[in-house]
Amino acid sequence: MAGTRTLFRIFYDRERKSRAMSGPNYGDELPCDAVIERIYEFLDGELTSEVDAKIRDHLGKCRTCYPHFRHEEVFLRFLEQRAQIEKAPPSLRRRIFQKLLDDEIDRDEP
Ligand SMILES: [Zn+2]
Repeated sequence: MAGTRTLFRIFYDRERKSRAMSGPNYGDELPCDAVIERIYEFLDGELTSEVDAKIRDHLGKCRTCYPHFRHEEVFLRFLEQRAQIEKAPPSLRRRIFQKLLDDEIDRDEP
């Protein structure tokens, strides 16, 4: 089966690709780069409510950032599930990993 390391490489490659495709600024007071830079803190709820609101607002309007945000959310969920997966027996573990990958791939289809 694909090891965790392989899965991480797949996710990080996608991360780089989507960053490369991002346009410059949306023209908002918070540029796309700044939104993407803070996306992990945003997902973790670590930002001040002011910044949090700005990012939320930007994501609601920006077509460049929104798909990226979706991707990060999936990735974080994957990390959370990984902790559970590691406790599961190998056969179950394989099924879960496959499901996660399939879900990811389905979402990428146009
Ligand atoms: Zn944006």
